[in-house]
Amino acid sequence: MSKAGLLVSHVRIWTGETGPDGKVRMIEDGAVAASDGIITYVGPTEGAPEAEVEYDHQGELLTPGLVDCHTHVVHAGNRAGEWQMRLEGASYEEVAKAGGGIVSTVKAVRAASEETLLSESFHRLKALVDEGVTTAEIKSGYGLDAGNEAKMLRVARMLGTKTGGPGVTVTTTHLGAHAMPPGGADKDAYIADVIERQLPLAVKEGLADAVDAFCEGIAFSPAQVRRVFEAARALKLPVKLHAEQLSNLGGSKLAAEFSALSVDHIEYLDTDGIAAIAKSGTVAVLLPGAFYFIKEKQKPPVDALRRAGVPIALATDCNPGSSPLTSILLAMNMACTLFGLTPQEALLGVTREGARALGMQDKIGTVTVGKQADLCVWNVREPAELAYRIGFNPLLRRIWRGEE
Ligand SMILES: [Zn+2]
Repeated sequence: MSKAGLLVSHVRIWTGETGPDGKVRMIEDGAVAASDGIITYVGPTEGAPEAEVEYDHQGELLTPGLVDCHTHVVHAGNRAGEWQMRLEGASYEEVAKAGGGIVSTVKAVRAASEETLLSESFHRLKALVDEGVTTAEIKSGYGLDAGNEAKMLRVARMLGTKTGGPGVTVTTTHLGAHAMPPGGADKDAYIADVIERQLPLAVKEGLADAVDAFCEGIAFSPAQVRRVFEAARALKLPVKLHAEQLSNLGGSKLAAEFSALSVDHIEYLDTDGIAAIAKSGTVAVLLPGAFYFIKEKQKPPVDALRRAGVPIALATDCNPGSSPLTSILLAMNMACTLFGLTPQEALLGVTREGARALGMQDKIGTVTVGKQADLCVWNVREPAELAYRIGFNPLLRRIWRGEE
């Protein structure tokens, strides 16, 4: 047998692959080998190939690299000031008058250079990477015009390069249909701008891997989202949707009609919506950080999603307004404590199902021969320990594309 590039041995492997009993396959005293960034061996340490670089462990846990499938890490400024005002008793009107809300982030992003955006966003992404994230999705949505949306996505692309980022695969999502731009009043006219100017520019520059929108009373109607999705379909881009976060407008049903990769938030998703996404194979992405930060009361329908066999993913939703969260491990803990996910579901949610929510399940998300060698070794024995502790990071080793 020829020498592999990398070997991690004497680890307890949580493969992320489930058997007929629904349990994830574990390999005791296991080893993983990789060459050219691709996994070539998964099995017992005895019988593993030799390698140029070998990491020998003592029974610690190895998992796939983690996937954060929903973030807004590229942004400028922060909204701690308005958060403070609200906690000191200010009304939403007073906050808005003081220039708060999403408009303040849009203004900050528009004013920021690519360099500033990159350096501010780098540190947030680095925090995720330091907890084992090897793939992150990054959305635009604070530029709200063609040039500034493209600027955000260019920065996201840079963060996904070996030299410009903290060592992580980045997928990009165009979210022009996130909110109305400052001073805008005509939502249909703005949607026309998304379709006619923003998306074509992003596609021309190769900046978008997917298209997202925010379907909500305070954002865009299903009819408006449909126009965005039709444009995405014409451009051959998959879609995702911020849906059913604050009310039920039927966004998830619409997303299912377009075979969406995921519907995200979904606290108010109803049985019709669940049936629709179960049929379309759309992933339900839960965002417990936003639920927690805005003190939402309505929980996502986890039991019904399980019964319908809908894949469930989890993400940080890292954003300055409703989820200033840069800890994927805390998101896992919150999904268990707030939503009742099992620790196995939480870990699957940030590995295999997170990959599925990005359409990348054939490349990442499980420890499987032929997939990208994105791996984490943790200073724990039981997988449940990853979701269990609060504010504790047991990451020992993170391997991205076959390299530490
Ligand atoms: Zn979001």
